[in-house]
Amino acid sequence: MQTDNNIFYILFIIFVIIYTLRQFLRYKDFKSLFISKNKISELDIFFSKYFKYYNQLNPKEQKSFIKRAYNLSLSVQILGKEKFEITEKVKLFVVAAQVQLTFGFRRYDLPIFRRILVYPNAYRSPATGNMHYGEVNAKGIIILSWKRLVKGHLITDDTINLGLHELAHALMHTIIHSNDHEIGLDPYLKNVLKLSKVEREKIKSKKDHLFRSYAATNIYEFFAIAVEHFFEVPSKFKKELPDLYDHMVKLLKQDPSSKLFRI
Ligand SMILES: [Zn+2]
Repeated sequence: MQTDNNIFYILFIIFVIIYTLRQFLRYKDFKSLFISKNKISELDIFFSKYFKYYNQLNPKEQKSFIKRAYNLSLSVQILGKEKFEITEKVKLFVVAAQVQLTFGFRRYDLPIFRRILVYPNAYRSPATGNMHYGEVNAKGIIILSWKRLVKGHLITDDTINLGLHELAHALMHTIIHSNDHEIGLDPYLKNVLKLSKVEREKIKSKKDHLFRSYAATNIYEFFAIAVEHFFEVPSKFKKELPDLYDHMVKLLKQDPSSKLFRI
């Protein structure tokens, strides 16, 4: 009997160790522990060149941005379609929107979405048969077209950002369909979606609205377009839709209108 108890105790300890280790490897900047100083300055030059968001961060936040992007670029499977070549820089460009969207969180991984397919340009979606620039599917795959992705990041105030748009879909899907994410997001997303009803009605009735008409399609498109506005025209968003903006701040734990990227 005593031996049985001992075995049970040992198994329990092993389980706790494996579980703790798994959590650590998953959530902490584990891979970036091995990132060299040279690599950090190389990536600093890269992100400063292409990402306005990155340039607004303070030096400590910039370092965190680099580490998170580096980790994601190694842990998410990124595959090129139609002979599109995936280089390290392409990978970093691809994961930047996820780092930005989740920058206020402690957890920046989206465990359901472990694979990203990159097409050189618009592609015919097997799901709809139509030409698309990007999509997110329930199997956990994010699809992006490279040309649009780059354009979205380089033009910073036209409220069109493919990377942020598709990652917003992925984040919303994760919050709704899983518990494996940053804690405490569900009530804030609910508040955003509650307000979206009123706003979508306004858009449908052709009233002048900050968001483009596509936002009225459904709650998913509304949320994705709200995210694009949140980062690209935060002050305008705050001024025109203060309640919605406030709920977005609480959900994403950052306030770009005040240049606060971690609340
Ligand atoms: Zn969409």
